[in-house]
Amino acid sequence: LEPKEEFEHSSLAVDVMRPRRSDPALAVLTQEGMTVGEVEALVESTHYSGFPVVVSQESQRLVGFVLRRDLLISIDNARKRQEGVVSASQVVFTEHAPAQAAEAPPPLRLRGIMDLSPFTVTDHTPMDITVDIFRKLGLRQCLVTHNGRLLGIITKKDILKHMAQIANRDPDSILFN
Ligand code: ADP
Repeated sequence: LEPKEEFEHSSLAVDVMRPRRSDPALAVLTQEGMTVGEVEALVESTHYSGFPVVVSQESQRLVGFVLRRDLLISIDNARKRQEGVVSASQVVFTEHAPAQAAEAPPPLRLRGIMDLSPFTVTDHTPMDITVDIFRKLGLRQCLVTHNGRLLGIITKKDILKHMAQIANRDPDSILFN
């Protein structure tokens, strides 16, 4: 059996994506309803380079993707400069600001730093196609969905690790050549 064929036909996005079954859940932001303090806590409790933004925890419907770096810089700037932005301020990725109580602190609107069309594949996409997309589009990460619900994420490093595993199992693999 030709090794490349085995790779092409046996691995799917769902086999490579994180989180694994035993991992903690995917760290996501909701497009509204989280406070500056909650977003900071989530970002600081992980080392991930980015976070998917979803409509709500219940729907897990993908809205966009924000880079950790951009989030931290924006929050930092807003705390310094934007009048009234505090830990209790709501972070908003929606187009329109949500209705808030008059006494609520002003929201921090972050739609501008969100990638509105992050690349996605479905869980059943064969890995050879996903790898091809990464190469051709120069992706750093790609999100995985099932029936419109966000399931996971695949980073470039995840793919490299996966390929290394296959090459180990089969040293004659031509993937690295
Ligand atoms: P890299 O893979 O280059 O180290 P990250 O630091 O972003 O990039 O991701 C580290 C690991 O965590 C990867 O296996 C990736 O799939 C996973 N991961 C990335 N972002 C998230 C996230 N928001 N929630 C859960 N897991 C994530």
